[in-house]
Amino acid sequence: MPARNAKPAAPHVTNFIRNFIDADLAGGKYAGQTWGRRPGGASVHANAAADPARIRTRFPPEPNGYLHFGHAKSICLNFGLARDYGGACHMRFDDTNPEKEEQEYVDSILDAVRWLGFDWHSFGDDNLYYASDYFDFMYEAAEYLIGAGLAYVDEQSAEEMRASRGTLTEAGRASPWRERPREESQQRFREMRDGKHADGAMVLRAKIDMASPNINMRDPAIYRIRKAAHHRTGDKWCVYPMYTYAHPIEDALERITHSLCTLEFEDQRPFYDWLLEKLAEGGLLARPLPRQIEFARLNLTHVMLSKRKLIQLVAEKHVDGWDDPRMPTLVGARRRGYTPEGFRLFADRIGVAKADSWIEYSVLEDCMREDLNERAARRIAVLDPVKLVVDNYPHDREEECEAPNHPQKPEWGKRKIPFAKELWIEREDFAETPPKGYFRLFPGNQVRLRYGFVVTCTGCDKRDGVVTTVHCQYDPQSKSGTPGADRVKVKGNIHWLSARHARATEVRLYDRLFAHPHPGSGDRDFTRELNPESKRVITAQLEPALAGAHAAEHFQFERHGYFVADSRDSKAGAPVFNRAVTLRDSWLKAAP
Ligand code: ATP
Ligand code: MG
Repeated sequence: MPARNAKPAAPHVTNFIRNFIDADLAGGKYAGQTWGRRPGGASVHANAAADPARIRTRFPPEPNGYLHFGHAKSICLNFGLARDYGGACHMRFDDTNPEKEEQEYVDSILDAVRWLGFDWHSFGDDNLYYASDYFDFMYEAAEYLIGAGLAYVDEQSAEEMRASRGTLTEAGRASPWRERPREESQQRFREMRDGKHADGAMVLRAKIDMASPNINMRDPAIYRIRKAAHHRTGDKWCVYPMYTYAHPIEDALERITHSLCTLEFEDQRPFYDWLLEKLAEGGLLARPLPRQIEFARLNLTHVMLSKRKLIQLVAEKHVDGWDDPRMPTLVGARRRGYTPEGFRLFADRIGVAKADSWIEYSVLEDCMREDLNERAARRIAVLDPVKLVVDNYPHDREEECEAPNHPQKPEWGKRKIPFAKELWIEREDFAETPPKGYFRLFPGNQVRLRYGFVVTCTGCDKRDGVVTTVHCQYDPQSKSGTPGADRVKVKGNIHWLSARHARATEVRLYDRLFAHPHPGSGDRDFTRELNPESKRVITAQLEPALAGAHAAEHFQFERHGYFVADSRDSKAGAPVFNRAVTLRDSWLKAAP
């Protein structure tokens, strides 16, 4: 099978996982791998054709919640490696736990993976799999282990089992059921399957080594009784495999070559290898066997990435649902205006490591800025409007100014912005008494109205001490783009909109959901560490061209950041905008 090692390793920033893969490929470890075009044991793969995929990876979420930023790292890693090495990445639902799984989550997960730009079809196969389809095999494998003297039914209570597990410094004690005859375990296991025993009455345990220094090797439980309906298999089963037993088998049946998981599974690797080795020895699984490699999970400052805690945020209504733009879920991020390209850039930039660490939230924001800067057309928005009246401009006149859609992309063209006597400007762009170094509007000062005219500030009107209108005079010879426009040199340059043409629009300004960089760490209550300023709803004045915006279009509102029309609350012709990210990191400035 010449094709399998023909292609050179992908040119890419290397990391320890790529090094393992390179070494496995160079050593020909998977050169003899076959693929029966569907998951299965030795009977499916042993005499099948050569595997066209050079490696196989998988993304195996449990369908019990929405995907979050941590999953995005895992998706980019697994699908990215398969892409770079000419391999295949399987989309697998790890649905071996009957209780918490739902179709709603399945649909949302598939949608999120596609949104991130990945696909599980390769070499003519649709590699979308459900671990629950392997229940028959897992059950047969368990019977095989019992028959081979490698598993037994233990009838101790959960507490008894825990008590005899031992500790890091003390060996475990054998269960009184450990040496029972195989036939008896066999019979009990079938009774478990047939619903003859109550939940928790007994479990099937692998028979390995109660004195192993690795507690996971001290006869781990591999099957339990759980009388619960499963979202796909219904009431067919009342015994379910434990995760540590199910996962290696899932990988082997799918001919996964490199099974990437987070660090907490490192201590499980010996059991992973033990189990697959025994089942291959018994002729149930084809070789070569998959290899587990652990990497550090994503920890992001100001973010919580635990499904359980995210559920709590939703249930206690600290946020407006799973797709709240402040949530670290992919549905939330998408609504907020984060992009798939930004996530892929982020995954590349943070890479993979073998030790846990914290990534600054600003790294993710910078990736989004970088991507949005490329794809977002420029528009004008006045977020905190105050009137500017050009006193020497005629009442009944209006004219057009031209603004580029993207300053670095002349091919994106220009758009027209109406200019008239009454304008909106940002309140902060006027100061009655300017602080030092202030170059914007103050009485006597000149600024350029960007893409328009140079104006001289003449003063303001106030009511109850609050500025209601700013006044100015314009220089008719100074219009941007006309000959001699830059005759007058000014230091300030501010944005504006014609009051008559602008549209008052709801805009949501989002910020980090948690003020604390490590929310909930040290057993603190994370719900008390929420950022009270994480969502601010304002009515802004927007350029008329924005009225037709749809949710897939990103904009830079000049000076304010990147925005997108909200996919849920916008109406045709009347969008509501979300701020994805500011232009600069305001948290950096706030730091002492
Ligand atoms: P959580 O702990 O939030 O419930 P999980 O690990 O239980 O997440 P799964 O659905 O089991 O979620 O995970 C699917 C895949 O995503 C697994 O391979 C897991 O390793 C990976 N994953 C989950 N969280 C992270 C993270 N923070 N960083 C990197 N990968 C992650
Ligand atoms: Mg999990």
